[in-house]
Amino acid sequence: MTHAAVIGAGTMGNGIAHVFAQYGWQVTLIDVSDDALARALATIRKNLERQVKKGTLSPESVDEILGRIATQTALDTVGDASLVVEAASEDRAVKKAIFQALDKAADPAAILATNTSSISITEIAADTRRPGQVVGMHFMNPVPVMQLVEVIRGHATTDATTQAVLEAATGLGKTPVEVNDYPGFVANRVLMPMINEAIFCVMEGVATSEAIDTVMKLGMAHPMGPLTLADFIGLDVCLAILEVMHAGLGDDKYRPCPLLRRMVAAGHLGRKAGQGFYDYRAPSA
Ligand code: NAD
Repeated sequence: MTHAAVIGAGTMGNGIAHVFAQYGWQVTLIDVSDDALARALATIRKNLERQVKKGTLSPESVDEILGRIATQTALDTVGDASLVVEAASEDRAVKKAIFQALDKAADPAAILATNTSSISITEIAADTRRPGQVVGMHFMNPVPVMQLVEVIRGHATTDATTQAVLEAATGLGKTPVEVNDYPGFVANRVLMPMINEAIFCVMEGVATSEAIDTVMKLGMAHPMGPLTLADFIGLDVCLAILEVMHAGLGDDKYRPCPLLRRMVAAGHLGRKAGQGFYDYRAPSA
């Protein structure tokens, strides 16, 4: 495998294109938005330059790596890519349309992977005529930095597809972990109930946000407290993932905390909105 296509050039897509190109793959990065593509290339350059400053990349390789990334706006430009990684918006209808189009446009032998955080791989695979070649490839944010890739087997994903994606992830310098397709996979299944419980603790007045984060950082050696992490992920994203797990697993232990719902309704979505459990707005002069 030497040619990958990445669909969606947002937060995750630019990082995924970055690592594939860094590890020698030709990459076609596709987004419906020209602006998103331009922003992605600028972000990749900035992040590669940061690696040069850290001494983990030679200065000459920046242009070489960027030279391996072509940008496009139409899905039928995936060409002969042997691995397609979809990282478009987390919307079932958007992903359904993308996979139906990719199924027609991509090489019949190509593997179609999705970076979805919460949508069923099995359902996405069922939209195609190649369900055995559909798999989850769940990178973590920020992609160039984080080691883990969850490789998620849908109901019909074949051993050959799983093996090829495990090998591809290892070749990108990552540590892949194989998991099965159930709501939340492993990462969010374990993380989100912890974040949700921390929010219940705030709502019930058990402790302040700062105190809860300090307990988890100093007591459990977590690099970041759960509320700081929730603000980083986005409270709307946390709520959506909890809703999927609550509906899909049918157990009230996944019910989203009412305070989480209230903060999302208020638009206090975390870092990206300037406020969440913490205030990120610059103090006014
Ligand atoms: P984002 O909103 O930053 O980027 C999504 C991009 O997809 C946008 O640039 C948008 O223009 C593009 N897009 C939308 N429809 C498209 C289409 N039909 N064809 C091509 N491009 C299209 O989103 P993101 O945070 O990068 O998330 C992408 C995926 O990765 C989601 O499935 C999300 O659940 C998953 N994910 C996100 C994170 C995270 O921390 N952000 C972590 C792991 C997984």
